[in-house]
Amino acid sequence: MVSQRLASFGTTIFAETTALAAKHGAINLAQGFPDFDGPAFVKDAAIRAMNEGHNQYARTQGIPALNQAIADSFKASSGLSVDPDTQITVTSGCTEALPATFLGLINPGDEVILFEPFYDSYRACIELAGAKARFVTLVPGPGGQFVYDENELRRVFAPFNGKFPRAILLNTPHNPTGKVFTHAELSVIARLCVEHDVIAIVDEVYEKLTFDSTLPHLHLATFPGMAQRTVTLSSLGKTFSLTGWKIGWAIASPELTRGVRAAHQFLTFATATPLQHGAVVALREGAGYIAELVESYRASRAFLASALTEAGFTVFNPSGTYFVMADISNLLARLGGKGVTDDVSFCRWMTGELKVAAIPPSVFYENKVHGSRLVRFAFCKKQETLNIARERLLSLAKM
Ligand code: PMP
Ligand code: GLN
Repeated sequence: MVSQRLASFGTTIFAETTALAAKHGAINLAQGFPDFDGPAFVKDAAIRAMNEGHNQYARTQGIPALNQAIADSFKASSGLSVDPDTQITVTSGCTEALPATFLGLINPGDEVILFEPFYDSYRACIELAGAKARFVTLVPGPGGQFVYDENELRRVFAPFNGKFPRAILLNTPHNPTGKVFTHAELSVIARLCVEHDVIAIVDEVYEKLTFDSTLPHLHLATFPGMAQRTVTLSSLGKTFSLTGWKIGWAIASPELTRGVRAAHQFLTFATATPLQHGAVVALREGAGYIAELVESYRASRAFLASALTEAGFTVFNPSGTYFVMADISNLLARLGGKGVTDDVSFCRWMTGELKVAAIPPSVFYENKVHGSRLVRFAFCKKQETLNIARERLLSLAKM
């Protein structure tokens, strides 16, 4: 019964792995969500708003105080001034901002450049808009950072059958690799966008979760010529450990914003009102919370990376996000006899046998083979959860 547009996508890997983890009583290092609660001062603000009667539909583009708080926070991190009324749209998580942007700005038959591995909903959004993807692969480079090949990128910006791409969809910090795009990489992308009149859609949901001072998060919108052609997407969930709140936003020029809102008004009309009030307080008073969270994630990143290395994985150290990618080639060679031959069978086996769940990254690739020797682990978990995961993973070293 599923429509032709969506039938091939099946069930999202996040729902599937979380259900599998629950079935086996496994520790869930698959779906990226914290196993600890978000900050009380933010929850209290939402509860207060609810009790004060802020419970009816919000303005479709967001309550004025939240649009202003997003504008101020974007100004602080990017230096760019945006008009909260005409350039910011509050959405139900970045997950809704993505189809709102695609349906509002991309025409059927348009082509969109996508880096693989990609976050799973991107392909579905491109399909919903009736567009086609052009892929550029991020491959492990020297020093363990994932990188793109500049010639490959130039090729996908060039016309195919006389047609230039309409947009590029970029995610930095990048899920699942943990890559933070460098100034040099973003400069190349920006120049190509300007040269070929391409729109950039940038998913920055992990913008605050970066760990290396030499690799800060940079907004593509700040590069020359990009402010008027970039749609910057972000959300509250990762930064404030409130992934269930689904408060997100799109920041763009008034012209591009008109497209985003044209779709948003019919997708959800508006986003949960009391949670928007909570989000205002988070953005206005959250600097201390974010600093502590990043410190604690830096420690969790180091802990999980070292546990994985001890267990026999080859780890790609992430510069941002709360994910770590690991190569399983060594382990596959050892576990072959157990019917474990690739990322999918490895993750299924590890969930059932070791009781630790992770994501098989081949789902994030068009060319699945690129992901078949990788596994993605989430480290946004309490230390006691990571301790148990470590104990269980270390049994791999003895196999
Ligand atoms: N983009 C990326 C890259 C993500 O990892 C996530 C996490 N779910 C989202 C978008 C969705 O964000 P939200 O929870 O705000 O809908
Ligand atoms: N972004 C999270 C991840 O990559 C999960 C989001 C979801 O469950 N849809 O794991």
